[in-house]
Amino acid sequence: MSERTYYVTTPIYYISGQPHIGHAYTTIVADVLARTARTSRSSFFLTGTDEHGQKVAEAAEHAGMSPQAWCDALVPRWQQLFASYDCAYDDFIRTTQPRHERVVSAVFEQLRANGDVYRGTYEGWYCVSDETFWLESKLIDGNCPTCGRPVTRLTEESWFFRLSAYRQRLLEHFRANPEWVRPRSAYNEMLAILEGGLEDLSISRTAFDWGIPIADGSGVIYVWFDALLNYISAIGWSSDNAAFHARWPADVQLVGKEIARFHTIVWPAVLMALGLELPRLVYAHGWITVDGQKIGKSLGNAVDAFVLAERYGADTIRYFLLREAPFGSDFSYSEEKIIARRNADLGNDLGNLLNRSISMITKYFSGVVPLSTATTFSDAFTTLPPRYTEAVLDLRFRDALEDAWTLVSGLNRSIDEHKPWALAKATDDSEAQARLATVMYDLIAGLRWLAIMLAPIMPDRAREMWHQLGFTDDIALQSIRELQWHDLLPGHHVGTGAPLFPRLELTS
Ligand SMILES: [Zn+2]
Repeated sequence: MSERTYYVTTPIYYISGQPHIGHAYTTIVADVLARTARTSRSSFFLTGTDEHGQKVAEAAEHAGMSPQAWCDALVPRWQQLFASYDCAYDDFIRTTQPRHERVVSAVFEQLRANGDVYRGTYEGWYCVSDETFWLESKLIDGNCPTCGRPVTRLTEESWFFRLSAYRQRLLEHFRANPEWVRPRSAYNEMLAILEGGLEDLSISRTAFDWGIPIADGSGVIYVWFDALLNYISAIGWSSDNAAFHARWPADVQLVGKEIARFHTIVWPAVLMALGLELPRLVYAHGWITVDGQKIGKSLGNAVDAFVLAERYGADTIRYFLLREAPFGSDFSYSEEKIIARRNADLGNDLGNLLNRSISMITKYFSGVVPLSTATTFSDAFTTLPPRYTEAVLDLRFRDALEDAWTLVSGLNRSIDEHKPWALAKATDDSEAQARLATVMYDLIAGLRWLAIMLAPIMPDRAREMWHQLGFTDDIALQSIRELQWHDLLPGHHVGTGAPLFPRLELTS
């Protein structure tokens, strides 16, 4: 574990509104990455909530509460959602925590001292819903280009971040690192924005006071500037903190494509101004849609994310989200599609395979896996575990799962081809008995691999699979990369258990 800690972040979620499946999706992906990385090195997974800004202040006022009390009341809802999807984050940061506010104030003062933050006058259009400023030229029919809502004209004295001064360095970074923003569509879009020119960014507000105050009383810090700094405040930013430098730069920062601009243009410029390295990868993923419409706070089209977890189980949804579409693209989900994946891939292909294999070992070998140094498998699978790990850590989850399922199919095919029940009847044919032993060994060896490989994606079901296969040590501590086919110890006894993925039908 001498390598640097693997550091993955989700966006901190804007607390105004209810958490939905889109938030769960991003957080699940971060969880899968952290769990996978952890099988070979230390990892750190950060999520949290973005709690300042006018929209939060207004929502709190509407509810007759103070903004802080309102945030305190909502945070558990987010934490419950992530718990219901088995997301084991290492830290949950809230932007109203003193540890965060201290860092934001210190960054602001440092940048003011070195001239990256200066005083000016702001004139422009503001979308309260997105807490975003827009140039007149970006408005669509006079409305916000992101959400379509009306915008407000603002003229005020403001602090500015000298974003334009970093344009050249950003361009150089983009051109030298074409993979630092993915997918390629997001990279191209952001590069085009940079090529079109950058304006300095207003980073203070005086119209309302729900934010981190500026020391001289000249307003509060713009919520986006505040929020972006969570990625370094949570890990204790300061120039002499060794723990901070063991984690920064982040390996992967996950964002929704609608906030790619802040994360790939503003954020790296702030990091450059602070003399910090840029994240290795910012991944701007697509949206989960229902009937082609983005799931959002204002769209009542989404099945409640809590209900989905309860109805299908966290692991089925986790598998579905990663398997259904290549990560990065938009995709439309429906309960029919979830059930189809659940019953086919998980129930028929994997669950029945486990069930049949354990029954046959129990029946033909009294539950003890026969030792075999041979295999009925070609070498095609030898490189599967490292290849699979590589694909997961490269966020090619669908490819990884398709690859893993070639092993699932291979094992199922082996049963069909070798017909163990026929071999078992040929009791005085020693060749048949040896082949039966090999086929049985292969099934358990392959299922053992699958349990370990799938554990980051389906932690609960993989653990159950592990126990049914008769293992008692901690599945999360098994290294995926180092898996060997002939790792099983002599005398290994399989366990028992109920079907992993009982068949489901569409309700209502
Ligand atoms: Zn808007």
